[in-house]
This record gives sequence, structure tokens and C-alpha cells, in this order.
Amino acid sequence: MSQREPRSQARSSTDHTLAHWLAAEDEGEDAGRLDPDNRLTCHVHGRWIHQCVSSPLHVNPVTRHRWCRACETELPVAVDELARTVTMRCPRCNQGISAATARLLAACRASLSHVSGKARPRLVA
Ligand SMILES: [Zn+2]
Ligand SMILES: [Zn+2]
Repeated sequence: MSQREPRSQARSSTDHTLAHWLAAEDEGEDAGRLDPDNRLTCHVHGRWIHQCVSSPLHVNPVTRHRWCRACETELPVAVDELARTVTMRCPRCNQGISAATARLLAACRASLSHVSGKARPRLVA
């Protein structure tokens, strides 16, 4: 209850871009123009999807996002920001990718490459 200071708000231009995308995707989704699975941002966590996809909130046994039905277990996420890769694989059967998980993976890869493309620091002379 005491953590109300907006400490980490508006740190960098990356955050500004994120806020912009979040708002635009919220709007597109509300208008039915954007499929929630195709979002690069997460409206629950207020982050890029690859930054919060490892949260348990992104596991859904019903839609099978990050869920292996055969093993009834969640798929861990490995995000490599340097290599720009995102992988999800069931620790038991080594597979477990559903259509929903495949779309989630595609969104994570897209958000990761979007951020790494934009976030490349400019050389200041
Ligand atoms: Zn999230
Ligand atoms: Zn499995």
C-alpha cells in the first residue's frame, strides 16, 4: 500500500514508445481491429509481451497459451534479448506447442525485435 511513488515511470524514451503502443493496441483491440493474440504489448502488466510472458498470468489451460495439455503443465519461457530469440518448450515431453502458444511466441518475437530495433543506442558524438 505504501508503494505509490511513481519512481520507475517515464524513465526513458523506450517507455514512451511502450505507452504509445499500449494505448494504440488497446484501442485497436476494443475496436475489433486487433486480435489480442497479435498484441506486442500486455495490457495487464503494461509491458512488452516478451517482458512479462513468463508471468503465471500468461499461462492459460483453457486457451492453451503456454500450456502443454498432454502433460498438464505450463511451458517455461526462455527469452534471449541478445540473440533475440524466444522459446517455449514443455520440460516433460519437449514439445507441447499449441496453436495459441505458437501465436504467443510469434507476438513475443515480434515485440522483442521491435524493441531491440528501436532501443539500439544512438552514437552521440
Ligand atoms: Zn503480461
Ligand atoms: Zn508436455
